[in-house]
Amino acid sequence: MARGDFHLHSTASDGVRDPAWVVGTAAANGVRALALTDHDTTAGLAEAAAAAEAAGLRLLSGVELSADLEGVDVHLLGYGFDAAHAPLREYLAGQREGRVGRMRRIVRVLADHGLPLDAERVLAIAGEASVGRPHVARALVEAGHAASVAEAFDVWLGNGRPAHVTRERLSPAEAIALLHEAGGAVFAAHPIYLGEASDDIVRTLAGAGLDGIETYYKHYDAETVAAHHALALELGLAESGGSDYHGLGNPNDREIGDIPFADEAVAAFLSFLDGRALPGLALAGAG
Ligand code: AMP
Ligand code: FE
Ligand code: FE
Ligand code: ZN
Repeated sequence: MARGDFHLHSTASDGVRDPAWVVGTAAANGVRALALTDHDTTAGLAEAAAAAEAAGLRLLSGVELSADLEGVDVHLLGYGFDAAHAPLREYLAGQREGRVGRMRRIVRVLADHGLPLDAERVLAIAGEASVGRPHVARALVEAGHAASVAEAFDVWLGNGRPAHVTRERLSPAEAIALLHEAGGAVFAAHPIYLGEASDDIVRTLAGAGLDGIETYYKHYDAETVAAHHALALELGLAESGGSDYHGLGNPNDREIGDIPFADEAVAAFLSFLDGRALPGLALAGAG
């Protein structure tokens, strides 16, 4: 088990466990430093901070933003920012509102395809969370329209499928600037999902001010880690690691902390964050 895990989701976005459970389980698994990186929200950070303090863990402020690079969906992880920074809070609030409207559009498209769903039921499944495709997928399964969440994505909701609806997003350069302004560092999440052009996309992001890449990711084998490490060296980027835990039990999923992230790499990541002359790690007013 790794001593650091800096990519974790909770019920504040599309994870199935609440922030306190995520932090407590991380502690039980031997993790000593972590970041909760819910999609478009810092709403879980206050609960996570209380749990981390009780368990004696180090918690970084975290968030995962989706940016649009000419049609490519680029996921960026922000760390160590001030969660009370007003422009960031306003942007995140706007994204969450946009998610509700987009969910209603998805529901209309599904109805057009003969799959009626109640949008209010999707909101109920999401609960306090910022609503996303995984919640629509669960509603499709519940209504008997799909056999599993995976099938719901494969047939309907996945990128390029009939009920895939995009939403307004910043460019990566804008998202990086916003997180920097809030005092954060920005890492490219799971570059492998960017496909064949991923190295070139990371080079573009590096030119836009990216601080690092997620070299150590849940199921990566040694060869994949080595390729990411070489790219980080080429571009002078720092390296992060995380399990991207959602608690969904999909293929390739790993438990919290069960990632190929050596102690020295965890320490190097934390010293990179600590070495920045920026106001980091503030959690005041997280919400
Ligand atoms: P959204 O942020 O609403 O666009 O939903 C994206 C989330 O859906 C990702 O963070 C994953 O949690 C989940 N997801 C994306 N693709 C799949 C898939 N093929 N199977 C299961 N979950 C997926
Ligand atoms: Fe997710
Ligand atoms: Fe992601
Ligand atoms: Zn994630």
